[in-house]
Amino acid sequence: VEHIKNPIDLARLVMDKTPHVLLVGSGAEDFAQSQGMTLMPASYFYTQHRWDELQKALEEENKKTGTPQASSQHGYPGTTARGFGTVGAVALDSRGQLAAGTSTGGLTNKYYGRVGDSPIIGAGTYANTQSCGVSGTGTGEFFIRLSLAKSISDLMLLKGMTVQQAADQLVMHDLVALGGSDTGGAIAMDKDGHIAMPFNTEGMYRGYIDTTGKEVVAIYREE
Ligand code: ASP
Repeated sequence: VEHIKNPIDLARLVMDKTPHVLLVGSGAEDFAQSQGMTLMPASYFYTQHRWDELQKALEEENKKTGTPQASSQHGYPGTTARGFGTVGAVALDSRGQLAAGTSTGGLTNKYYGRVGDSPIIGAGTYANTQSCGVSGTGTGEFFIRLSLAKSISDLMLLKGMTVQQAADQLVMHDLVALGGSDTGGAIAMDKDGHIAMPFNTEGMYRGYIDTTGKEVVAIYREE
C-alpha cells in the first residue's frame, strides 16, 4: 500500500472484516476507504532523511556500471543497519493471547513491486498463542527464505527451545549463515511473556513494557 497512515490498523481490519489474510495494492486501499480510512498523499510520507538516503543509494548505483542494483555487499539495496525502517510490535494480553504486527517502508532503492518479509505471515511477522509472537527487521529476502518468524515458533514447539534459544538460532546463526551479519534482528515474546530481541546488526531500536509498568528501551548491544 502507498497511502495508508497506519498499515497495521488496516491489516487488523482485513483480519476482522474479511475472510482473507492479505490484501495488496489498490484493492487494499479501496478496502481501506470502504472502512472509513483516509488515503494520505505521498507528501505525507516524505522525510528529508529518507529522501537523502535514496539519493545516496541512487548515486552509488550509478557509479557501478553494468550492475542494475547493488548498493551493498550482498547485492541488496539498503541492507546496512541504517537502511531499515521497520516498526514492529508483539503483545501478550491478559487472556494469554499473542499478537504481532509489522510495518515498514521496505528497503531503500528497492525494485518497484518488490514485496519484503514484513507482510508475509511466517517470514517477518507471526503469532501463535501456543508458542510465541515475532516481528522482524532486516533484509527481507533472507527472512522470507528462512520463514524466519515461523521457524522460531517451530523450534519452540518441535524442539522444546526457549524463545531466546529459538530466536538466537534463527537471527544469530541461520540468518548470518544465509546472508551474513548486518542482515537484521527480531523481537519475540513467548506465551509466558519471556522476551528475546536478538540482532546481528550494529544496533536495533527496541523496547518493552511489562505488567509492572517497567519500561526498557535500547539501541546498541551494550545497553
Ligand atoms: N524487513 C524489511 C524489508 O525487507 C525492511 C525493514 O526491516 O524495514 O522490507
